[in-house]
Amino acid sequence: MRTFEYLKPTSLKEALELLERYGEKAKLVAGGTDVMVLWKKRAISPEYLISLRNVPELNFVAYDGGLKIGAATPLRTIELSPEIREHFPVITDAVSNLGSVQVRNSGTMGGNICNAAPSADSAPPMLVLGAKVAISGPDGERSVPITEFFRGPSKTVVGPREIVTHFSVPRPQPNTGAAYWKHTRRKAMDLPILGVACLISFQDDMKTCSAASIALGVAAPTPMRAYKAEAFLAGKIIDEATLDEAGAIAASEGSPRTTIRGSAWYRTEMIRVLVKRTGMMCRDRAKGAAGR
Ligand SMILES: Cc1cc2nc3c(=O)[nH]c(=O)nc-3n(C[C@H](O)[C@H](O)[C@H](O)COP(=O)(O)OP(=O)(O)OC[C@H]3O[C@@H](n4cnc5c(N)ncnc54)[C@H](O)[C@@H]3O)c2cc1C
Repeated sequence: MRTFEYLKPTSLKEALELLERYGEKAKLVAGGTDVMVLWKKRAISPEYLISLRNVPELNFVAYDGGLKIGAATPLRTIELSPEIREHFPVITDAVSNLGSVQVRNSGTMGGNICNAAPSADSAPPMLVLGAKVAISGPDGERSVPITEFFRGPSKTVVGPREIVTHFSVPRPQPNTGAAYWKHTRRKAMDLPILGVACLISFQDDMKTCSAASIALGVAAPTPMRAYKAEAFLAGKIIDEATLDEAGAIAASEGSPRTTIRGSAWYRTEMIRVLVKRTGMMCRDRAKGAAGR
């Protein structure tokens, strides 16, 4: 019978020591909703699972204008955070539609981001928000912009002796709205066919874009930013026609694959549709925030 030893460190220091001691024989596990699926499929067979569930330094949400989210914070805690819902609704959009309540009770943002699936729902929001990923290892802590974090499907910059500790999100500019849209075949639990996040900051007239970020999930081997479409929007009046054009540019930047969930052609078409939709949501949300 296949077995593993389940180790339960109660501090970051202890977790790092265990990782150092057991090296390649060990695998980190947070909620286990990806790890246990891989183990059951026999895709991985670690001798030791190092659980991050009881490490308090990794489990928190802290808001002071900017936002910090501990890597092992359950997605359900993030979904229910009133500060995140009010100030970073683009994150709530993503986590509240990820899996089921049961999955979100176990699953964590750290696991979702470190698993590095192109379909990771929390990646596009963190990309448009300009998040940084804090990583601890034997040589101390380092901080990596999330735009540099993904290296390919299931590949990240995290080294074998390192642990992601938290995500930092800067305070958004005034007059900013952001939104995420997960496009699925059905309303019930499903991975996205495509995920699009958009963030637009407006000038004081609340019409002209001062800066924009657009991120796409399942449009390339890793979650990605659509930099050309973002540059196109800067300085433009945000309306349906402008967002249509930005959507077409973003579609030309993606390189989606045909999979069981949708064809490359369909995904490309949906990038155009969803950039426009999330762009309009940004405008409404920015106006709503300005009116408060
Ligand atoms: C039924 C079901 C439905 C799902 N639906 C969705 C969905 O709609 N959208 C979606 O995006 N995902 C979905 N998932 C995938 C999964 O639930 C998420 O990716 C989840 O966020 C993973 O978090 P976790 O804590 O369970 O990760 P784990 O399984 O514990 O870990 C995932 C990976 O990250 C590594 N890791 C975890 N924490 C750290 C850390 N702090 N530092 C370094 N490495 C770390 C682990 O070693 C592992 O490689 C679903 C899964 C299931 C089983």
